[in-house]
Amino acid sequence: MRLGVPMSASSSDSILRFKLKRTLEMLASKEGRGTELISLYVPPGRRIHEVMANRREEYGTASNIKSRTTRKNVQEAIDRVSQRLKLFKEPPENGLVIFCGAIPRDGPGTERMETYVLEPPEPINIYFYRCDAKFHTEPLLEMVRERDAYGVIVIDTSEAVVATVRGQRMEVLQQFTSGVAGKHRAGGQSARRFERIREQALNDYYHRVANHAYELLNKVSGLKGLIIGGPGPTKHDFIEGDYLNYMFKEKILATIDTSYVGEQGVEEIVAKSQDVLRGVRYLEEKKLVQKFLYEIGHDTGLGIYGETQVRRFLTAGIVDLLLVSEKMNMLHVYTKCKNCGTVEDALIPQAGFVKYEQDLLSTTCKKCNSASLYVEETKDLVDELIDIAEKQNANVALISTETDEGVMLKDSFGGIAAILRYKAS
Ligand SMILES: [Zn+2]
Repeated sequence: MRLGVPMSASSSDSILRFKLKRTLEMLASKEGRGTELISLYVPPGRRIHEVMANRREEYGTASNIKSRTTRKNVQEAIDRVSQRLKLFKEPPENGLVIFCGAIPRDGPGTERMETYVLEPPEPINIYFYRCDAKFHTEPLLEMVRERDAYGVIVIDTSEAVVATVRGQRMEVLQQFTSGVAGKHRAGGQSARRFERIREQALNDYYHRVANHAYELLNKVSGLKGLIIGGPGPTKHDFIEGDYLNYMFKEKILATIDTSYVGEQGVEEIVAKSQDVLRGVRYLEEKKLVQKFLYEIGHDTGLGIYGETQVRRFLTAGIVDLLLVSEKMNMLHVYTKCKNCGTVEDALIPQAGFVKYEQDLLSTTCKKCNSASLYVEETKDLVDELIDIAEKQNANVALISTETDEGVMLKDSFGGIAAILRYKAS
């Protein structure tokens, strides 16, 4: 998902989805030592005590596992899952997903038990338990993948269909037939009368389709725009005539020629519209980064970048728009000294974390000089900044690297930039 449009962070479920997506990607990258990582999906409405009973059965089954270490790890993971389940009287409104298992840190014997409890952004409809070498994140990932919806109307003089498209997925909402006769009149009818009746009928039909389309598509959450398609010139008559609500007309992104109407026509549009939709999405991102580049280029004092500056102005509540590159993979790591309690922090690339933790063993505390440093907490830098933005009511835009501007944000400005509400120092 890409949030091209700036949004008030406090009200945005897109940001929650983005964070969830990052968490899931992190979880998907983890691997167990053997088949000992548990994924549990509990849909809303499922009784917790029933889920607990199933876990007790799994615990029993696990006693048959031959490898002693795997058996111990699986049973411990099931125990932890049960402990988490106990905290709920019933599943939350969208259900509950728990991932738990022993993750090797650095080779055999270095596993540490990790537990993640997630609430999905929309109701899950599966009850699912797996014990595998990896976490099963696909059902949740599917949920966060593509949220922007586009309305599609495919129309010719005989039939029409109203549908939505999200990513590659389409959903037909309603089909219509016009009941309008073809262009050839029956014998004996006056040509002019025939034409008049036919036009009236078409007019009624266009109104009917337009009104229903408005009603249906207005209810679609996250509707970003409209695509009108169909074979021949009918789609243009439909758009140019006074049928569609004017606010809807402004949402039209493209008209696309198709060979078919009906569901097949929608399929053609899904295939042909990907470029158009990408263009729309990235145009918004481009505009936002260009705005930042303008502030920098004209030295207005409103454009700032770099983690230190951005964090400072964000915390002070002066940031209007926070721009972060989706490709940022930095961790904010807090280390603590066991001996004197001194806490230090550092920003490191995610990929360098294992080495960082290893190196820590041979590093001494700056204050007391003892070699007893350990990682107390790690935070995803992007998540951390978005959290501050949420508190301060700043807008947030996540920028892909699909545009030149996005690449520039990442490579030339360290992936973090902001536009201030007013000039400040
Ligand atoms: Zn110390």
